[in-house]
Amino acid sequence: PAQFTDVAVTVVGARVVGLSASAALLARGAKVTLIDRYADEATTARAAQAEAQGAVLRLGDDETLPPGTELLVVTPGLPPSAPIVAAAHAAGIPIWGDAELAWRLRAPLPDGGYAPWLVVTGTNGKSTTVRMAEAMLREAGKNVAACGNIGYPVLDAVLKGQPGAGGEAGEPFEVLVIELSSYQLHWSSTISALAAVVLNLAPDHLDWHGSYAAYTTAKGRAYENCQVAAVYNAADLETVRLVEEAEVVEGCRAIGFTLGAPGLSMLGVVDGILADRAFVADRRTSAAELGTVYDVEPQAPHNVANALAAAALVRAYGVEPGAVRDGLRAFRPEPHRIAWVATLDGVDYIDDSKATNPHAASASIGAYDHVVWLAGGLAKGADFDDLVERHAKRLRGAVLFGAERHLVAEALRRRAPEVPVVDLGGPGPERAAEVVAEAVAAARGMAVSGDTVLLAPACASMDMFTSYGERGDVFAAAVRELKAKLAVAG
Ligand code: ADP
Repeated sequence: PAQFTDVAVTVVGARVVGLSASAALLARGAKVTLIDRYADEATTARAAQAEAQGAVLRLGDDETLPPGTELLVVTPGLPPSAPIVAAAHAAGIPIWGDAELAWRLRAPLPDGGYAPWLVVTGTNGKSTTVRMAEAMLREAGKNVAACGNIGYPVLDAVLKGQPGAGGEAGEPFEVLVIELSSYQLHWSSTISALAAVVLNLAPDHLDWHGSYAAYTTAKGRAYENCQVAAVYNAADLETVRLVEEAEVVEGCRAIGFTLGAPGLSMLGVVDGILADRAFVADRRTSAAELGTVYDVEPQAPHNVANALAAAALVRAYGVEPGAVRDGLRAFRPEPHRIAWVATLDGVDYIDDSKATNPHAASASIGAYDHVVWLAGGLAKGADFDDLVERHAKRLRGAVLFGAERHLVAEALRRRAPEVPVVDLGGPGPERAAEVVAEAVAAARGMAVSGDTVLLAPACASMDMFTSYGERGDVFAAAVRELKAKLAVAG
């Protein structure tokens, strides 16, 4: 394990991840300066905890690199263009993300080995895939942590069971399934996953990375130093390219997943059965059965892809086919991911508020025949033309709201001029609930029996809501209110 005695480390970001990093480094003897550009009450209170542990604080909008810094640890969100990052880069000071720090701080288990990392990244489907893999590993009887960019920092998972080193008390985890964002991967260099998957690639977060090429390069780092399986999506040639370009450990295999029949070294679907032709004794003649597409919930094609990706990771780790199937059956989707809210007059109302970019929205729109689409919000530099063109025939209508709804409206005008559009403006948070209720009413007016009213905004939510979760809740509440009104009326 890395030694940090008297090393001057600057940790950027006094939030959950930064506080964990600071505590772990202090426990290893580092001299930590914790900085955050905010100096409000909440930040100050959080930072006080680190100060009590021995960190020096610097709150407020000083963007310079503290003199003497030997290592910069950045937590998610800080862009590479930030002055402090540029200064560290220019001075040749190493810059680590929190995942890189966690990799360096991991400690051996009682048997002397290390808990393997199963890494998941991609533009969409990450959390779902992580949770599916977690469920499979549970069924296999493993003490597993699902961690990373899903609310439980990797560092906390790695340090579990090492109270003397800044971790929580308890049993250390045997295996980690880790969701890594493009931000975290951008700042990783030595992580060596047992198996890793890039689920798919489409433009997202271009504002942060600066370009699509920089974004895909960051994602491709998931495959670097991979030990057993570099898992790609056979339907997404960019993921294939990233596997080809990665430097993997000798003996590591490229494993594909497909919604069609699997070739050698692939997982796929044969007559509705999830079939593994990669991790079987005789790859030429046999396939292991991992359950069926009916074991996957929600039962949309992109979600079967997520299930196959999760299966590939855990099979690489040695999980038996029966545990993969039982894990899929035990898995329950998280809220706001193609969640059914109500059926009114034969029309389904579906909350896919988690569709925060065009690629995700495209997957969910594509799962239905006729859709009244609720969309808009913050576009993060994305382009909507392909999405609109691809689904023009499915769209019964579109109801738009949010700060950058005009970008969606323009794409519709260009690529699907026949689709009727209702524009409800871009209100602030105070009018969000009212406008969403108007949107639901407008959608009801356009939909006919058998249609789906789908909230899949293709945009981030922060212009009107605190999160995609709140956006979905507000939508669901509006639908239920409408349902109640109709019940009274009718
Ligand atoms: P992430 O963690 O990558 O944001 P989630 O599992 O939370 O992904 O799913 C986010 C949204 O992306 C879902 O609401 C769904 O619409 C869409 N989605 C999920 N899996 C896929 C996939 N494999 N391909 C395209 N879109 C997907």
